[in-house]
Amino acid sequence: MPKLFDRLNIKKEKDIKTLSDFIFIFCRENHPGETKSIFPIKDGRLLKVLGNESPVLCSDCQKLLSHGIAKLLLCSLDPKPMCKKCETHCYAPGYREKIREVMKFSGLYLVKHGRLDLMAHYLF
Ligand SMILES: [Zn+2]
Repeated sequence: MPKLFDRLNIKKEKDIKTLSDFIFIFCRENHPGETKSIFPIKDGRLLKVLGNESPVLCSDCQKLLSHGIAKLLLCSLDPKPMCKKCETHCYAPGYREKIREVMKFSGLYLVKHGRLDLMAHYLF
């Protein structure tokens, strides 16, 4: 989906990085027994957004991350509002509840671990 990646901009890049970081923490802390693999990224720009490091995730979390990235890229609102303040609920049912759980868990995790700097881009 090369066209989709043309929609990348600074704001979306930050949001994608945050999304990836938060899902990575959630998966690491909550799914230790799952079989995990590196999230496949074919687009070089996207990989760069993630600091040239693709997260290692279980299959459920990989699905959630690809859904989230696709939704971020498809978001036509410019500037994109914070998802939790947005009136367009673009996540598919099931994914929306899941991503809120992830954001809440990883947000608290970062606060507990003194990483308030990473909280600056709290999305959901
Ligand atoms: Zn997981």
